[in-house]
Amino acid sequence: MFCKNTMEKLKLAVQKSGRLSEKSLQLLKECGIKLLNEDRKLRSIASNFQLEILYLRDDDIPQYVEQGVADTGIVGLNEVHEQQKNVVLVEYLGFANCRLSLAIPKEEAYTGLRYFENKKIATSYPNILRSFFEQHHISVEIETIGGSVEIAPSIGLSQAIFDIVSTGSTLIMNGLKEVHTVMKSEAVLIRNFQCSENKMLILEKLLFRIRAVKNASENKYILLNAPNEVIPQIVQILPGMKSPTILPLAQEGWSSLHSVVKEDQFWDIIDQLKALGAQGILVCSIEKMVI
Ligand code: ATP
Ligand code: MG
Repeated sequence: MFCKNTMEKLKLAVQKSGRLSEKSLQLLKECGIKLLNEDRKLRSIASNFQLEILYLRDDDIPQYVEQGVADTGIVGLNEVHEQQKNVVLVEYLGFANCRLSLAIPKEEAYTGLRYFENKKIATSYPNILRSFFEQHHISVEIETIGGSVEIAPSIGLSQAIFDIVSTGSTLIMNGLKEVHTVMKSEAVLIRNFQCSENKMLILEKLLFRIRAVKNASENKYILLNAPNEVIPQIVQILPGMKSPTILPLAQEGWSSLHSVVKEDQFWDIIDQLKALGAQGILVCSIEKMVI
């Protein structure tokens, strides 16, 4: 793709340090982007792509992208909703998966959302929580705190909490139970509303690579041997990118089939293939996948 101004760089904000930082940089690496002076103090530039990285606190990323200080950013969807900034959601990135949930002391009997009527709820996400209860016409008192939300009920600060949950073990350790999920989150790529034409071209190039990496991680390459008479049934199960490759084996009456399967359907498919008489099934990771 041709970019008019070869000097212009797309500014991408990533989290300086925290749960998103490693995976954001890993994604860029898998996209073949090499960063110079990757000391994570403030910024670094790519040696082989028109990209400049700004290292910021995740809460600040939506605002900087709205203002155009950064053209794009990688941040949790939860922060995008919480910060209520005017940005474009470009792509879901499939990591930092978590949910934002309401939790209450485990000994309490939960009666549904009305349970929270006039209760005090501690959270670091007051905007998401306020709009959620407004939509349900339930009045609650919101106590905004910066962190360690899960201890709020035990120290008498609140009667419930609204916080990020991934496995739920932090809640259990603090004598709490999750009773309602308000939103699901994952890392997303956002962009400024008015990126220049040239920066949009660079972003398209970056997105093309990100999608190839994502597709590769969501799919597996599968090779197997099967008797020729079951090939029509196997082709139904293994549609592949277009259709599977079929090669004759030296042994009469047998063929080798190569195809691509979705990671999440993989075990079901293997069971079906075995039932049809497939043998020597090999499954390999795909490094990049351009559809
Ligand atoms: P900062 O110092 O940049 O403000 P932070 O402490 O606010 O960082 P982190 O705890 O590093 O934020 O989390 C960053 C993002 O990672 C969250 O906004 C959320 O999208 C996601 N996240 C947080 N906790 C988890 C978890 N347990 N599992 C998966 N993803 C999570
Ligand atoms: Mg933060």
